Amino acid sequence: MSSQQIQECSQCLLNTKDTSYISFDDNGVCSYCQSYKHKVFSLGSANEKSDYLKTKINEIKLHGKGKKFDCLLGLSGGVDSSYMAFLAHELGLKPLVIHLDNGWNSEIAVKNIEKICEKFGFELYTYVIDWEEFVGLQKAYLKAGVVDIEVLTDHAIYAILNKLSYKFKIKYTLSGFNYETEAIMPKGWTYSKRDFLNIKDIVAKYGEEVKFKTYPYINFYKALFYYWFLKLETFELLNFVEYDKETAKKTLISEIGWTDYGGKHYESVFTKFYQSYILPVKFGIDKRRAHLSNQICAQKISKKQANQILETKPFDEQLISMERDYILKKFSLSEKEFEKIMQEKPRPHSEFDTDQRLWNRYFSLINKIKFWKKRY
Ligand SMILES: [Zn+2]
Repeated sequence: MSSQQIQECSQCLLNTKDTSYISFDDNGVCSYCQSYKHKVFSLGSANEKSDYLKTKINEIKLHGKGKKFDCLLGLSGGVDSSYMAFLAHELGLKPLVIHLDNGWNSEIAVKNIEKICEKFGFELYTYVIDWEEFVGLQKAYLKAGVVDIEVLTDHAIYAILNKLSYKFKIKYTLSGFNYETEAIMPKGWTYSKRDFLNIKDIVAKYGEEVKFKTYPYINFYKALFYYWFLKLETFELLNFVEYDKETAKKTLISEIGWTDYGGKHYESVFTKFYQSYILPVKFGIDKRRAHLSNQICAQKISKKQANQILETKPFDEQLISMERDYILKKFSLSEKEFEKIMQEKPRPHSEFDTDQRLWNRYFSLINKIKFWKKRY
């Protein structure tokens, strides 16, 4: 596509080069900005959000009456989940804090987690995935050339939350996801975090000798079981409070001695390299474009300021070769092997097997049953 044909949103930074799944209204505002407005608006006014928050917290407390925990809380040590933990304490909740140790967590993130749990007296459950195994899985994703390597971490967290929810009979999970800062993510930049068949097929084709030993996963049948019997409910707490990242950071620093580590999701050494180097260089994806677009929609930044940030490189020129050497050493990849991976054409996740066809069959069967029930 020539540059003349690229259409950019009149409001945010997204354009037709970033994703083909984008459309524009008569004022040139893109479908992502419209969807953002719709999502934030659907949460209601400040009073309605506050009322809903009170009701939900009471519901969670009632569920946990007489029990050690009333909810699950995934903690990465980043600002969103750390602030959520702070609020959980303020609101008098009793969360079981879950942390996934996949071997890539920065020291700062781990320290943040420890400080939070110590300060608030929260019990911490750390699930450790065997390092060789996890790196083997990630290497398979790198070699396959699929875009969303983070599926491996996110699927593992999803599996652990479901398993612990079942084990401890906890119905609620607090999520740090929030529309104000995360609603915009172009289709095609990420992939479903629940599709284990996709993971299994990629690993079978590119994972050489790696076997699933300690990696927690949920296949279609387990997911169906949890779907029917667990009814785990996710509550996006940050959507119902005034959430401003910079203010949240200041609160965490003064209340807990929390430490900031820079970019979004930079709590993991691999995620930092993946987002700042692999995604822009191999896939032509600069996630800052989505994050900044969110900030524009939330009126935290002007489009001009966002463009100025985007004009800078996504990675630090001075640090990147050091980070690259570190990552290659961890993956036991030579410079030549890594360059080959970076040069190869990206491969869509859809080239591999997917759980989706099983879900489609399941829902079509359910619809047929509903139809026959209505008829007779
Ligand atoms: Zn837009």
